[in-house]
Amino acid sequence: MSADSSTATQTVPVLVPTPSPEPYTYALGEGMQAGPGTIVQVPLGPRQVPGVVWNGAGEDAAVDPKKLRPVTAVFDCPPLTGDMRRFIGWVARYTLSAPGMVARMVLRVPAAFEPEPPVPGLQLTERRPDRMTAARERVLALAGESHPMAWTRSGLAHAAGVSLSVVDGLTKAGAFEEIALPPQPVVAAPDPAYGAPDLHGEQAQAARMLTDEVAAHTFSVTLLEGVTGAGKTEVYFEAIAAALAAGRQVLVMLPEIALTQSFIDRFEARFGAPPAPWHSDLPPKTREKVWRQVAEGSVRVVAGARSALFLPFADLGLIVVDEEHDAAYKQEDRVYYNARDMAVVRAKLAHCPAVLVSATPSVETRHNALEGRYRHVRLPRRFADAALPDVALVDMRKSPPARGGFLSPVLLEAMAETLQRGEQSLLFLNRRGYAPLTLCRACGHRFACENCSAWLVEHRFRGQLQCHHCGHHEPVPEACPQCGTFDHLVACGPGIERIAEETLAHFADARVIVLSSDMVGGVKRLRLEMEAIAKGEADIIIGTQLVAKGHNFPLLTLVGVVDADLGLANGDPRAAERTFQLLSQVTGRAGRTGRKSHGLIQTYQPEHPVLKACADGDLEAFYAAQIAERKRGAMPPFGRLAAIIVSANDRQSAEAHGRALRAAAPASGDIMVLGPAEAPLALVRGRHRFRLLVHGSERADMQAYLRAMIAAAPNPRGSVRVAVDVDPQSFL
Ligand code: ADP
Ligand code: ZN
Repeated sequence: MSADSSTATQTVPVLVPTPSPEPYTYALGEGMQAGPGTIVQVPLGPRQVPGVVWNGAGEDAAVDPKKLRPVTAVFDCPPLTGDMRRFIGWVARYTLSAPGMVARMVLRVPAAFEPEPPVPGLQLTERRPDRMTAARERVLALAGESHPMAWTRSGLAHAAGVSLSVVDGLTKAGAFEEIALPPQPVVAAPDPAYGAPDLHGEQAQAARMLTDEVAAHTFSVTLLEGVTGAGKTEVYFEAIAAALAAGRQVLVMLPEIALTQSFIDRFEARFGAPPAPWHSDLPPKTREKVWRQVAEGSVRVVAGARSALFLPFADLGLIVVDEEHDAAYKQEDRVYYNARDMAVVRAKLAHCPAVLVSATPSVETRHNALEGRYRHVRLPRRFADAALPDVALVDMRKSPPARGGFLSPVLLEAMAETLQRGEQSLLFLNRRGYAPLTLCRACGHRFACENCSAWLVEHRFRGQLQCHHCGHHEPVPEACPQCGTFDHLVACGPGIERIAEETLAHFADARVIVLSSDMVGGVKRLRLEMEAIAKGEADIIIGTQLVAKGHNFPLLTLVGVVDADLGLANGDPRAAERTFQLLSQVTGRAGRTGRKSHGLIQTYQPEHPVLKACADGDLEAFYAAQIAERKRGAMPPFGRLAAIIVSANDRQSAEAHGRALRAAAPASGDIMVLGPAEAPLALVRGRHRFRLLVHGSERADMQAYLRAMIAAAPNPRGSVRVAVDVDPQSFL
């Protein structure tokens, strides 16, 4: 960092991580160099903050430079590339966020702006000590063989199996000189030729189409579609290999952190080194190293969550978005963005290909592929002999569960048979805890969260009632707080804990594992449990949507979906799509290694077209129906949606501001505003919420409209907050 001293002569616009709509202008001290993209430190109020030198003129550009505050320091860090800066601007415009708030996502690791300190090291010289010992001989022999002939002190002692004092003695005698080693790479360089597989005909053809895109060095989008187990990962690994061979960097996006371990192991087996990881749970030192080495171009492949999109790649050659349909790609906090869509934009600005991967693509992506806007590469068959499971619907009206239970005799029998064969069953229910609602049988009192409009979920294992929205929890009381009656509380409906209880009542000797994201022990425990399952150390697995993804369980041959109606009933326009994707993914877990396998989907509405499509595995019929329906309703991708969420500490202020926004909506033939309506989740963490839905035609300039609407409305006052969600995924 070079410190400022002299009088200011030049000015620069600097984008700082705040909600300000424009960069601020700072004076640049004499001798300071700071072209666009340079990361600098500037004063902001009483604080020092990092910022990026921006293009064009900043606010106050006309002010006399002598009156401006000076740039405090210029970091010794590669500047953000032009395409990264354009990306920040693009995301800000599209999501109606302040560019500074988008830049904030890039500048989150300030410790990485300074170069990593060099590591002290030793290098062999020509001089040899007068006195030799066996230990000294070993050290010198080892050091003489190695390439390059530079070691860390402890690394050398360890490798030679001697104490540090032996190495120090040799250094003193002049056999080694002390040098500065470059900082350790956070991961070794992947080798594109390391574990190349033998791809069979269709796979090889698909891989060639992707590697051609990589070689073309231009923007393109390809949908790589194929049933689970078809080898999509193997195929896109070839595209990664091609980008690596061309000397470029690769970003692989994955929706779920808990699953990255199995991905990382697989990547390492293919490329001889793991990818650099990127997600919110990374230790700070690793974060710093990854950020810095990505900026310098020495990290070649990053596997990360959606925030990896904001890493400052030096030379991006390929972006892969695995499970592109996954809802986890949507961020709904501060800057609302869909990382899948923004990945396509990033690729476009970086002039590199994007590959979207899924067994059940989003309706939008599939439509783009069918229309020829995206290339469509398909892998229709499972690899080797692995057959897709037979999937059947269980009509719960015809084979109802026993009183108080949730598992039908059909499913229980299939579980018994699977157990007998020594194979595994998976019961899937997307509901954590024991029961989603607790009520008092005497007075009808229902236990609700005091901060949110949500029922408290009983977690029997912990003896708690929990709110899944704000985290509020309280012990399960012995008596009803309303009427005081003892022992009259009843659990309504099932959560996975309750399904586990029912399972154990039927199969007392079975080894049952319950998996959910809020499990005690977190991600680490989850990983261990998954490994145990893969090794066959469980008979029955009961889990939430977490188990739907990733992982190969070779012994798994039966998947039971406890309540398929759950996802279809929540009033979300994407409910059908989500249910189809989830159920396909869950049932796709079974039979991945050639054994005969089954999926049983419990439902009270077996005639529902989405469930029928799941049972028939009729992807084409499903997408055709969905696309027709979206077209009729002018829903995305045939129309555009944005949500405006107004929240406040009191209901009245939220509603009043919602109305003011509505009143400020310009008249338009292309765009319609609905609401404000109280949000389905009307109260979250003590904040009252109202929603407006803005629905436009395919051609509508949604962003311009929203901007005009917000500008014409009064500024939010007091506790009122306005959030804009372009292309909303959630309607709660
Ligand atoms: P997908 O990503 O489509 O679900 P994967 O790439 O995970 O499929 O492949 C499924 C399984 O088959 C994996 O265990 C993978 O290693 C194996 N596999 C797929 N293609 C090949 C191949 N050509 N050679 C060896 N193993 C393969
Ligand atoms: Zn709550």
